[in-house]
Parts: sequence; structure tokens; C-alpha cells
Amino acid sequence: MKSDVIALSVAGLSASYGVVPAISDVNLKVEAGQIVTIVGANGAGKSTLIKTICGLVRPTAGKVHLFGEDVTGLSPDRLVRKGLSVVPEGRRLFGEMSLLENLELGAFSRTDPAAVRSDLERVLDLFPELRDRLATSAGTFSGGQQQMIAVARALMSAPKVLLLDEPTIGLAPAIVDRIAEIVTAVAATGVNVLLVEQNAETALAVAQYAYILEGGRVVSEDAAEALAKSPEVQRAYLGI
Ligand code: ATP
Repeated sequence: MKSDVIALSVAGLSASYGVVPAISDVNLKVEAGQIVTIVGANGAGKSTLIKTICGLVRPTAGKVHLFGEDVTGLSPDRLVRKGLSVVPEGRRLFGEMSLLENLELGAFSRTDPAAVRSDLERVLDLFPELRDRLATSAGTFSGGQQQMIAVARALMSAPKVLLLDEPTIGLAPAIVDRIAEIVTAVAATGVNVLLVEQNAETALAVAQYAYILEGGRVVSEDAAEALAKSPEVQRAYLGI
């Protein structure tokens, strides 16, 4: 599905830590119905870009629009209420709390318990491996399962746009494939996805459109399938 509606757009976005620029003049968009990826090596600025979009880092320049509305610099909780949710790098689960409690926290901004209950069912349908373990402490799950919980928690806010910061990092290949499958399944439910990854092979396989981030700048962009065939990308990111 493709449409003219821009779910998320980022224009001229820059951010620094002190005087050191971390991202510079980044332009990107996620069209409605798309999975878009940002591929970059360690330190390229991927996490900073996500944090700047979601209100954790203040931009020094540029704009973020969500479905046409200027949301630049809004706090993360206001952005959640507007339909933008993040799966942060490192998952940030509450390990002592149960899986169910973690999922309920994801719905903190919502006021309709019946809708939250039915969304819980829908979310658990996406993660059959979690369904029977709702009372288990989140910290006792495997790394891959904790990543699934982090995605499930973000989905409990009923986002229209989901940002994922390196969801496959440190996971075994079979689990990476499962996470990729989940990202595709989430997008099929109508959630627009911006996926930030070091794992270019997986990211370019699931996304429709891709950007390459180097030194805080977008140095290349194209349909994901085309980028995966580009000799420079193959050499630098795919080990071919
Ligand atoms: P990784 O894959 O390691 O998470 P990344 O692509 O997400 O890397 P960022 O974490 O955004 O990259 O880092 C971009 C640049 O900003 C790097 O040079 C990094 O050292 C620097 N940086 C990141 N966080 C901070 C911080 N809190 N204070 C100072 N500099 C930072």
C-alpha cells in the first residue's frame, strides 16, 4: 500500500551534544503504509536521530511533522498521545515487573479500558510466544523475548508511527528473522514503521525505502531493494 499521505517527515534536522554535532541536516519521510529504514554503522547518529524525533534530544535546527502537524520538540509523552511510539535501543523494560504490567505501562496515555483490553488481545496475537507468560517477570525472559516485549509494549499505546532503534542488535540469527517477521506483521496492521538498524541485510529486506546515515548525515537514499543492489552499499554494509 502506498499513498500520498506522509506519516512522518523530518526536514533539515540537526542535533548536537555540546558543540559536537551528532546529526546534521537530516531529511527523510515515511509515507503512509511504509516500512522505512535508516541504516548506519556504530556512531553514525542513528540513536540521536530517533531521540531527536521523539523529543528526548532537542534539535538545534529543523522540523518534525507527524501527519502534517509540526511536532518539533514536543515531549515524548505528548508525542505518544499523538500516535508516535518508540522501541528504544536496549529495550528499557521494567525487569522486576511482570510482562502484563510492562504491557499495561505501554498504554499509560489511554483512557478507554475496553479498547486497551481488546488491543492487548490483538498485540498478544502477534506474539504467541508471550501469551501464556503474562505473570512472569520481564527480566527473566531471553533477549529475543525481551525485544518482543518492548515492541508489544510500544504497540499498547496504539501508535500510528512506530520507531524502532536497533531491535535486532545482539540477537541470534533465528531470533533476528523472527523480529523481522514481527516488524512486517506490525506494518501490515497499518502502523507506519521507521526502523533504525546496523544490520543492513535484515533492514533492507523488510523495508520498502531506505536511507544510509554516515557521520550524522544522510549520504544515500533509495528504494530498499535498489540500495541492497548498490555496489557501495554491498561493500560497506552487506559484506559482499
Ligand atoms: P550505535 O549504533 O553505537 O548506537 P548510533 O548510530 O546510534 O550508534 P549515536 O549514539 O546517535 O550513534 O551517536 C552519534 C554520535 O554522538 C557519536 O559520535 C557518539 O559518540 C555521540 N554521542 C552519542 N550520545 C552522546 C552523549 N550523550 N553525549 C555526547 N556524545 C554523544
